[in-house]
Amino acid sequence: MPKLSSRLDGFTESVIRKMTRIANKYGAVNLSQGFPDFEPPKEIIKALEIISAAGPHQYEITWGAQIFREKLALKQSKKMGLSLDPDKNIVVTCGSTEAMMAAMLSVCEHKDKVAVFSPFYENYGADAVLSGADPIFVELKPPAFSFETKELEKAFKKGAKALILCNPSNPSGKVFSKEELQIIADLAIKYDRFIITDEVYEHIVYKPYQHTYIASLPNMFERTISCSSLSKTYSITGWRLGYIIASETVISVCKKVHDFLTVGAPSPLQHAAAVGLVFKDNYYDLLLEEYTRKKKIFLDGLRKIGLPFFDPQGAYYVLVDISAINPYKTDTEFCEYLAKEVGVAAVPGSSFFHKEENRYIRFHFAKKDETLQEALKRLEKLRQTA
Ligand code: GLN
Repeated sequence: MPKLSSRLDGFTESVIRKMTRIANKYGAVNLSQGFPDFEPPKEIIKALEIISAAGPHQYEITWGAQIFREKLALKQSKKMGLSLDPDKNIVVTCGSTEAMMAAMLSVCEHKDKVAVFSPFYENYGADAVLSGADPIFVELKPPAFSFETKELEKAFKKGAKALILCNPSNPSGKVFSKEELQIIADLAIKYDRFIITDEVYEHIVYKPYQHTYIASLPNMFERTISCSSLSKTYSITGWRLGYIIASETVISVCKKVHDFLTVGAPSPLQHAAAVGLVFKDNYYDLLLEEYTRKKKIFLDGLRKIGLPFFDPQGAYYVLVDISAINPYKTDTEFCEYLAKEVGVAAVPGSSFFHKEENRYIRFHFAKKDETLQEALKRLEKLRQTA
């Protein structure tokens, strides 16, 4: 057999997605891969029903349906405090996953370097490798998951062409303050580098924390490639609708990458989801209320069981410290045991850190209240050993 590409040798299949398969195998409550088990907004489902009969069912404009981009430009201009042109500043992609990949391919050449905060969402490592770049990891140090300016500056000095910034952050739940973002922005300007963001949890930021779009800071729009999606905001992770927002120059390159990668995001889904883009502010307030409640249910439960964790400021993940209760060598073995014997699936923390790290597992709480209660009931089993 001819040799397969060695490009993929540098990383494994996604541990997050693997844990979902393990959860399904053992019938575990799946708190590993982050997606909701509740319904999307009924207005979006109603729109999909109508579109399923009336169409469109054929290709849309490669960089996104006009109506979707127009509504998205209005929504994000308001939220980001920018003046976005639907034709020049937006590409609609197949999820934020494609958005990030397209951004990386637009910026990086073979042997370039890219800075990545660690812990990090596992896709970024693969994105870097697939785009030919070497990641330089910059530590986010627990418990606050703060970075050292000197360390970030060192990454830029070493030639990192871009920084990948997940804000609010998966898996740590860190929300970068405006002051921290200004430090990052100053360095990006000083060294003339790009910031590629992943802001899919932009609407899930717990009080009193606030989301700041780094693209909205002075002189940052030109060097920021903002990636996000509709998956988490409208509970439609399977629809694979994401987008890139950037300057016309950057977008003209991203459009080409996107065109040849996927041609376009699914047209009927873009038309249906466009309904969500004009929801009033009240929708986002309610979404946050819901997640604030779920966070409280789940974290109160973990506290009662006696499991230590880092309280997230945003997103819907929690890193739990298992070092006192893990009888196995690795967090991966612990997660296997947890799915099989306890009936709850989590992601081994090691898949988020660049250095060897066995102390943490990640749960998500984007589930119905009763699902969370059931998971907590099962997790009681850990109390004995805690
Ligand atoms: N972002 C989610 C997570 O971290 C889902 C990732 C995915 O599988 N696309 O679990």
